[in-house]
Amino acid sequence: MNEKRPCDLLIKQVTVLKPDMALYRDTAIAIHQGRIVAINRSTLLEETYRPATTIDGAGKVALPGLIDAHTHVCQQLLRGRITDEPPMIWVNFLVPYESALEPEDVYWSTLLSGVEMIKAGITCFADAGGRHMASAARAVEALGLRACIARSTMDSATFVPDTMKDTTAGAIAKTEALFDAWHGKANDRIHIWFSLRQVMTSTPALVEGIAASARQRDAGLHIHLAEHLKEVEHCMVNYGKRPAAWLDSLGFLGPDVLAAHSVVLSDREVQLAVERGATPVHCPRSNLNSHGFPKTPLFLALGSPIGLGSDGASGGKIDLFAEMRLLKSAIQASRGLPINDATVLPVEDALRMATAGGARAVRLERDIGALDVGKKADLILVDSTAPHLYPTHNLLRTLVMSATPQDVQDVIVDGVVLMRDRRLTQIDEEKVLRKANEQLIAIARRAEF
Ligand SMILES: [Zn+2]
Repeated sequence: MNEKRPCDLLIKQVTVLKPDMALYRDTAIAIHQGRIVAINRSTLLEETYRPATTIDGAGKVALPGLIDAHTHVCQQLLRGRITDEPPMIWVNFLVPYESALEPEDVYWSTLLSGVEMIKAGITCFADAGGRHMASAARAVEALGLRACIARSTMDSATFVPDTMKDTTAGAIAKTEALFDAWHGKANDRIHIWFSLRQVMTSTPALVEGIAASARQRDAGLHIHLAEHLKEVEHCMVNYGKRPAAWLDSLGFLGPDVLAAHSVVLSDREVQLAVERGATPVHCPRSNLNSHGFPKTPLFLALGSPIGLGSDGASGGKIDLFAEMRLLKSAIQASRGLPINDATVLPVEDALRMATAGGARAVRLERDIGALDVGKKADLILVDSTAPHLYPTHNLLRTLVMSATPQDVQDVIVDGVVLMRDRRLTQIDEEKVLRKANEQLIAIARRAEF
């Protein structure tokens, strides 16, 4: 009789979503030293492994952890303040809010954001960049999440107060310092990225400088791109080129670029972005509230991976299940109905955006975004027995069209269980809510809104 092999965690009798987007029942996942070491029939793996911990996955579906590929953890404490307010939201709320932030605010804002993410099945996020991002990194270390963190950089534009601007060299140097302090920390869960807030707040020297510095370090580049029409006008008036074409003329676009939103792109710009290998990240709730429908079917037809983002919690909750559905409906209404095509965004593509597409966007496709042997163990277990999910003719379609954050029962990142039966294991949730509320009140007082 052979000795059983040790493993840290065995999830048994679970239904598993494999990379081919098919669901396999009565399966088990063995996890050891932070990675998936086996996925096979449950009876077989139960005979093979001697796990330190076992989770019974009966009635649950194992999915890759969802990836929020564009968020703003610093804006978590702006929640409820901007919806239905008259313009300019940027001038009246975002500038006073961000200007008022202290490192301690960002720490608790990130913790609150992380708690909301874990409870929504999100295991990895990419932040576009705010202030005091070392505090965000410190919070991510405590949360147990995986994150790609950037620092907001702006060196121009009259609508940005001087207090929020850096010199070109200063903006680059501050991100380099953040990189030196935090890149690869927390068992490589934390990656530091370089970021441009957007084209309207960047000089050509900043675009070129930030790209050069990131590429010297093999770091990723995060930018808000083609989020709204004003950007197009700005680039046409100042440079005679549309935003993506202008960035490309400066050598910015490449496979290391995460292009958040990517909505108001011309077909030619979509093609250019795909040729350069930049990954678009759509944020449906945010996009529909501001500047319209992304060209998702065109990106898909060109074979591009696509990520999905929440764009933070200032205007709504962090819920990638809802974002998938919203995008599916929005794309159906805008691109499908006019040509009588009911399948312009199938559920498999929507779910791929929240998983493998996001993993490509954050440059971690080798390690996360799918459940496969050798990948890092970032996964979630979703209860499939609730009345809005069971019974069903097709569980995958039903999950995408009906699952909610509350259905996520267990969350595992880097092989560590962060939530078990909806209870957080690493973080005192009650304390985070209490402290976040104190900070929220204090920021409002300081920012005077
Ligand atoms: Zn954003």
